[in-house]
This record gives sequence, C-alpha cells and structure tokens, in this order.
Amino acid sequence: MTRFGDFITDMLLYNQSEDFVVVFYLVRTHHVLKIRSLVLMGVGHTNADVVLKWSKSPIENCRLVCISKFPYSTYSGMLPGTLAGQFASEEMQISLPALIERAGAELILDDVVSVNPENRTIHFANRSPLIFDVLSVGIGSIPAESNKFDTINIVPIKPMQTFVERFDYRLNHCLNNLDRSPEIAIVGGGVAGIELAFCIRERFLRRVPSHSPRFRILTSGEEIGDGLSSDSIRKLRRLLSKKSIEVITGFRVAKTTHEAVINQNGRSQQADVVIWATGAAAPPVLSKLGLPVDDAGFLATDKTLRTTAQNHPIFAVGDSGTIIVDPSPKAGVYAVRQAPILWSNLKAILKNDSLEEFSPQKEFLKILNTGEGKALLQYKSMNFHAKWCWKLKTYIDKSFVQKYQFEKIQSQEKK
Ligand SMILES: Cc1cc2nc3c(=O)[nH]c(=O)nc-3n(C[C@H](O)[C@H](O)[C@H](O)COP(=O)(O)OP(=O)(O)OC[C@H]3O[C@@H](n4cnc5c(N)ncnc54)[C@H](O)[C@@H]3O)c2cc1C
Repeated sequence: MTRFGDFITDMLLYNQSEDFVVVFYLVRTHHVLKIRSLVLMGVGHTNADVVLKWSKSPIENCRLVCISKFPYSTYSGMLPGTLAGQFASEEMQISLPALIERAGAELILDDVVSVNPENRTIHFANRSPLIFDVLSVGIGSIPAESNKFDTINIVPIKPMQTFVERFDYRLNHCLNNLDRSPEIAIVGGGVAGIELAFCIRERFLRRVPSHSPRFRILTSGEEIGDGLSSDSIRKLRRLLSKKSIEVITGFRVAKTTHEAVINQNGRSQQADVVIWATGAAAPPVLSKLGLPVDDAGFLATDKTLRTTAQNHPIFAVGDSGTIIVDPSPKAGVYAVRQAPILWSNLKAILKNDSLEEFSPQKEFLKILNTGEGKALLQYKSMNFHAKWCWKLKTYIDKSFVQKYQFEKIQSQEKK
C-alpha cells in the first residue's frame, strides 16, 4: 500500500513532462517491485546504531523505516547526571527526525499495537498497517510492576523521555501543598535506583537548600546493588548513609496511598514522591507480536539475535530480547555491543546469507554517578570512588550519545 502510495505521489510530482513520466514510470515500476522494507521498532541503543550505519552505507533496493513513540530517545546513562544538574536535558537526548532524515530513512511516530508475523504487518494505534520484509524489535523494558499502582505519588522511570518533567511536576506539587519537607522514596535497589537516589537528592538540594527531605531506597531484595562486588556495595552503603539516604531491604510494595507505600506485612513508609525504578520487565506489547517469549515475557532469540520462531525474519535486541541459551543482564552495554552483529545479520538475511552469533562478555566496566561530581567505578575486583571516575564516565557517555546527535533538542529547563 505504501509503496503504491509512493509511486502515485512520484507520478503526480512528475506529470508535467510526459516523456519524463513514461521513462520514470518504467524505471520506477522496476524499482518499486524490488524494493524491500527493513523496519526498526524502537530506536534505542541497538537500533539507533543501525540508523547510523545505514546513513554511511544504505542497503540497496531497501527502505529503512523507524518506529518510535516519541520524536526523541533518551540516553539512560546520562539521566542521573541530568537530574543532578550536571548536564542540560538536551545533552542526553537524541533527536530522531534529525538522525533519521540524515540517514535517508523514514520515521513513524505512533504506538504499535500488534504485529502479524505471518503476513508481516505491523498494526498501529493511529495509522494504517505497515508491511515489513525484515523487522528488528528494540523497544527496551519497563520497570517491573510499574502499572500495578496508580496513586498520584508514583513517578515511574519510563518513559524516560518524560521522567524529568514528571518528577519536577510531582515535586513542585508537594513543595506547594505540604507544610513540611516532602519524603522521597526510590523503589528499586539496583544500580539505577542507587544512582537515582544520589542524583535526585542533589537536584532537590540545589533547588530548595532550606528543606531537609527524607530519602529512602526501598527494595524487596536482601541487599542493594545486584551485580556489584561486596566491597563496592559496602562503599555505596557508607556513602548513602553519609548523605542520609536510608536503605530498607526486604520491603516489597504491596499497596500505595497518595502519601505512603505499604509492604507485604502492612508496614507503611511515608512517601510523597515515589520514584519507581524496579528491575526490567517486558513491555506488554511484546506479548502481542505473535512470537515466542521467555519466562519474563521478553522475546526469545537464538545467538544470532533472531527470534526463535525461525521462519520469521524478525530480530529482538537490547532489553526486549533474551538469548535463551546465554541470557545477559538487561543493561545498555549489551544492547550497544549487539549493534554490529544486528547490522551484519540484517544485511545477511536480506541476501539469504548465514547469520553471525553474538557472544556477550561476562564482565563489564560499571560506573555509578554518586551525584556530587564523583562516581564509583568497579572493574573486576577493583573499585574506586573519585572525581576522575565521574570524568571518565562523562567522557564515555558524551562520546557515545554525540554520535547520534545531529540536532540539539531545545530544553526549557533552567540549570
Ligand atoms: C536510570 C537508569 C540508568 C541506567 N544506566 C545504565 C548505565 O549506566 N549502563 C548500562 O549499561 N545500562 C544502564 N541502564 C539500563 C539501560 O537503560 C537499558 O539496558 C538500555 O536502555 C536498553 O537499551 P534498549 O535499546 O533495549 O532500550 P532503550 O534504550 O530503552 O530504547 C528503547 C526505545 O524504544 C522506544 N519504545 C518503547 N516502546 C515502544 C513502542 N511500543 N513502539 C516504538 N518505540 C517504543 C522507547 O521510547 C525507547 O526510545 C540504566 C537504566 C536506567 C533506568
């Protein structure tokens, strides 16, 4: 339908010169029949790199179509620093129209409601279906149980594109309406939750230094910082305590009110703002793609990143996919490392060539922003908490995101 639509538009554009129309018709018809569609659903860490690679060397006789809910993507590695006032909002954002237009690709801003892998169609909330020849699904993840509670104090970390505005809105509401300092809870004790606690505290103190709010990390686990060494966790615990950020473990939120969270045993913690930053869960739309999923609802893939429904030319990358025989943690580093394999396999599948396998690394450098211009760096058995670690993180993060920034997004935020 779209290809025929393109053809009609081209005909209307060129119908002023009859000779040209005839030649154009023949060339274009030949071309139209052979053109295939590579579709990227979500433009996150892995799929964005495909767009960049496409801009340098597009695949012949193929169009690239990108689907996103928002006109920009947010780079999670810089969100905590943005909250702490270390970066302006636009520094962590990638303008998709700028990136995609430069690549000569097409952008669809809409919500995917389902996919039919049999007839290769993608169905949207607000537009007609799109046919694909090859599809790469990379829509990330959502925080676990984020849709379970809907009291006004809950501020889920996703969609990340709107988090800063949603957080500020809730905080302003509390500052304007409470006759005491607000109590702020971060639900989720993973590395993201810890970074958010440090950096949100910094944001708060910069804005209203006269207040002394209470900050708490609440986690259902027995310890915070899953995946970190016990020595790094000890250091982080000391630092959290120094900054008066309380850590409460074994606390699974079972109920919320407008100013509190209540756990499985009925214990209540006052919380006027609740940042919901629990571990990665599958976005509900993944269950509507007609494809195999793992126990947690993420798309099941083999090592080539192709879905285990082998007859379909569909890949699942980043947080959205799980390599069933060798699963990795849901982290941006893996999504980034998958990009060259995905690009190579997208080209291979269009040529009926064999696919490459992705081998996830077991160890990776972890750097956590602690909000005050320092970061905690952990690599293998070593760890450091210093200014140079923050500088290194900032250098790595900025170098990464700037590769995709062809237009800066205007921020309303005052630093
Ligand atoms: C606060 C925070 C800090 C983090 N810091 C780090 C870090 O320092 N290092 C690290 O390795 N990992 C980090 N992570 C984890 C990291 O963000 C994820 O693992 C990573 O984003 C996964 O990349 P992705 O491409 O799968 O998804 P994403 O980067 O989330 O991209 C998915 C894109 O798809 C879009 N999308 C969603 N649904 C749809 C839909 N239905 N249709 C179309 N588009 C859709 C989203 O808007 C988004 O732009 C952090 C996570 C958080 C929450």
